[in-house]
Amino acid sequence: MSSTTGKCLCGQITVSIPKEALNANGNTALCHCKNCCRAGGSLGSINIIVLESDVEIKGQPTIYQDSDTNSGASVQRAFCGNCGSSVYTTSPNMPGVKVVKLGLFDDIPKPSLELYCKSIPSWNKPIDGTKQFDTMPTK
Ligand SMILES: [Zn+2]
Ligand SMILES: [Zn+2]
Repeated sequence: MSSTTGKCLCGQITVSIPKEALNANGNTALCHCKNCCRAGGSLGSINIIVLESDVEIKGQPTIYQDSDTNSGASVQRAFCGNCGSSVYTTSPNMPGVKVVKLGLFDDIPKPSLELYCKSIPSWNKPIDGTKQFDTMPTK
């Protein structure tokens, strides 16, 4: 299985995921929720959902327990303690997977989902051909 590797800004942390994961459909999402905006200091975060066992992390990320969530469950936001790059998120609501930050990688695929669109600023347009949700998709 060939993999692709991303890194934080300072390079102390690298993340490898299977290349095939980048081309799978439905596992990439741009999230506009306020927590993702604050965590990245940006318009949101662009993520890929990968099986925990398929993610290889080198280096030691710092974990922030984010308890200010809609579901009430704390999510773990892993970031580089040296440069501050967001690395991945895990959630008790999504066992067995890591939500890896695609901004760490050279090539960023077009997201298949756009989440928390209710928080998009009026001057920022939704992405053509991407499935939009007001908040999270309900199962
Ligand atoms: Zn770093
Ligand atoms: Zn979010």
